[in-house]
Amino acid sequence: METRLRQAIEQNLLSVYYQPIVDCQNEEICGAEALCRWNDKERGPISPLEFIPIAEESGLIMGLGKWMLEQACSDAQKWQEKNFKPITVSVNITQAQLLSKNFRELILEILKKTKLDPQLLKLEITESAFIQNLSDAVVIMKEIISLGVRFVVDDFGTGYSSLSYLRELPICALKIDKSFIDPITHNSQGAALTQSIIGIGKSLGLEIVAEGVESKEQLLFLRAYQCSYIQGYLFSKPLPQVDFENLLKTI
Ligand code: C2E
Ligand code: MG
Ligand code: MG
Repeated sequence: METRLRQAIEQNLLSVYYQPIVDCQNEEICGAEALCRWNDKERGPISPLEFIPIAEESGLIMGLGKWMLEQACSDAQKWQEKNFKPITVSVNITQAQLLSKNFRELILEILKKTKLDPQLLKLEITESAFIQNLSDAVVIMKEIISLGVRFVVDDFGTGYSSLSYLRELPICALKIDKSFIDPITHNSQGAALTQSIIGIGKSLGLEIVAEGVESKEQLLFLRAYQCSYIQGYLFSKPLPQVDFENLLKTI
């Protein structure tokens, strides 16, 4: 698997899909999350849930992650040049990337090369990435924030870390994991938990993104509790860049 992934990276066989992130109140597209896709010649499509851990263990994540950042920034800048409304692009990064030497320089280089407005780039990182190296992570994040780029905590609520780190992290948003969104319309405890997470995040001045929104009922619940943004199959699945661009043309 590792060998095949290495070849796929070298032979440019990976692609980027974009899933819209929409305003919870008016359903306008405000951003897109870049998601890596690998269609293996023999095995067919392989889920990132399967290959990202392999990329992390083998170190291939550094090259893959750099490629994703370049593609996403370049595509987002093309949307701007085509005069679509300004939308952010969110790229998933891992702890190893964040803590790698010269990550700030890499971001700066990519922003210069692609000419993307740094305000349009968001970096998504999971809670588990902060457990061991909170203070190192915060220093690097602040350096990158000084470029104008923002950070988002992904899969919020699924890690083992404590709430206290929310005070220390220089982030602009929390993404509530799909596992919290799934039960909101048929389980009062699930609803209470999501409502509370929105409350905590908002009282800290953070934007809240609900992930994995699949039904109109979930949307209405999240809207009533003032969630900022939603992302999920209800609005759109992740799309190839061409299809995403066609979607932008319709708004
Ligand atoms: P994530 O960053 O939390 O991304 C959201 C995942 O939820 C995506 O899965 C997306 O397709 C899926 N999703 C969104 N809306 C719905 C919905 O309504 N229903 C359902 N069932 N699923 C929904 P995907 O693309 O398979 O990616 C899985 C994970 O792999 C991502 O979770 C992220 O952690 C990781 N990943 C993907 N691309 C990259 C990448 O370029 N770099 C890194 N480091 N990780 C990546
Ligand atoms: Mg993500
Ligand atoms: Mg997530």
